[in-house]
Amino acid sequence: MKHGNISVFVPHNGCPHQCSFCNQKSITGVQYQPTPEDVDKAVLTALAYPKKYEYEIAFFGGSFTAINKDYMISLLKAAYKYIISGDVCGIRLSTRPDCIDKEVLDILKSYGVTSIELGAQSMCDEVLIANLRGHTSTDVENASRLIKEYGFSLGLQMMTGLYKSSVDRDIYTARKIIGLAPDTVRIYPTITLGGTMLGDLYLKGEYIPQTLNESVDLCAFLLKMFWKNNIEVIRLGLHYSDDLKKGMLFDNYHPAFKELCESRIFLDELRKQLGIDENTCFKEKVNYTVCVNPKSVSKLVGQGRDNIKQLEMQGVNIKVIQDESIPLYGIKVL
Ligand code: SF4
Repeated sequence: MKHGNISVFVPHNGCPHQCSFCNQKSITGVQYQPTPEDVDKAVLTALAYPKKYEYEIAFFGGSFTAINKDYMISLLKAAYKYIISGDVCGIRLSTRPDCIDKEVLDILKSYGVTSIELGAQSMCDEVLIANLRGHTSTDVENASRLIKEYGFSLGLQMMTGLYKSSVDRDIYTARKIIGLAPDTVRIYPTITLGGTMLGDLYLKGEYIPQTLNESVDLCAFLLKMFWKNNIEVIRLGLHYSDDLKKGMLFDNYHPAFKELCESRIFLDELRKQLGIDENTCFKEKVNYTVCVNPKSVSKLVGQGRDNIKQLEMQGVNIKVIQDESIPLYGIKVL
């Protein structure tokens, strides 16, 4: 059975920082602090439908282990009873690397928490300092080690295109994250929101956000790095919300960002197999038949048939054939 999250957002509550990019209201669209009764409501609503998923209760949105301890325990207690009853199979949460220690992990363990995600964001201390993260890359390493020692599933989140970062620095961060062997990774390209330090820097011309295309190039590369190391990327790009869209000062957001990156990977791989690059241009049209898994046709073709159109402009016509024997991310040129 598939995994599903019953999400409870705990926005910004108790967070002692104000990271350069963070405006929790714009990111989650929520500022309300949930109560234990809200946890019950969310779980019972999900359980009221015919069971399609193995559910986990997910406390996302801020710095869960930095909130008031009694409040944190009240939310965990509310969630834990559904673990005991067998209605949900785990509890996951996201938090900051400097808000993890043995005492906290003991509490989380005793209330059935199974997965912990850390907002690492960058493994370059200069980038962390410039973006007012308030923790170091060593904090990420120490917290990751401890989480794994306790037997929790470890998730690491990184951001690309932060202030003072670069393509090389983002690739370095991915390499360091791979070295920590997390079970899952989330990658979030930086979105420039009004009411944040990053927004002010952008308006003053001191921060230049990556364009959507640059971001797709970079994140497609990172995605391949994680795949090669058998690390699952469970999210690429922020979830859409009206507040996010309204709050953006620079539009480099795409609601199907992961699909864009996967399509870029297919285009690069196809060009490689055809022995061409993006500058190749045939005078006479050449025709190829390409087989892919039925589930990957849209990725090969690209959004709005973008990949097919780009190849056509180079003088390459592609006929796509579906073949279930081809692996999900494979391509076979006939
Ligand atoms: S630590 Fe998380 S919640 Fe706090 S300001 Fe930074 S991004 Fe926002």
